[in-house]
Amino acid sequence: MGDCIFCKISNDTLGTEFLYEDDTAVAFDDIHPKSKTHILIVPKKHINTIMDMEDGDENIVGHLVKISKFLAEKYSLPGYKLQFNVGESGGQEVFHIHLHMLSNSSK
Ligand code: 5GP
Ligand code: ZN
Repeated sequence: MGDCIFCKISNDTLGTEFLYEDDTAVAFDDIHPKSKTHILIVPKKHINTIMDMEDGDENIVGHLVKISKFLAEKYSLPGYKLQFNVGESGGQEVFHIHLHMLSNSSK
């Protein structure tokens, strides 16, 4: 966890510009956007993968989905895709859970 890039970002040690922040999660632009809008919604709690969720973590994961609604309203996005990559074979590269929010509309 000490080396986890998303722990560092979500604890605001790297000065990343947040599009959203509360006690539980942050949102920021993906460094290599795969669509016009590509936001990562990241819990402050370190959880390696969706498969490592413990009892109660469903509240955190549900909260990430709710934040996407807030961001869509903030940026007037008419629609978007939500994606979790789970595990190496699921395409996950950063092992701290994050929700990809992808829209063909610009924010
Ligand atoms: P994964 O493949 O793990 O689901 O997605 C990781 C995502 O994190 C990738 O889309 C990648 O571009 C993004 N990413 C990796 N390192 C950084 C970083 O330091 N800053 C930001 N903003 N995005 C990152
Ligand atoms: Zn982490």
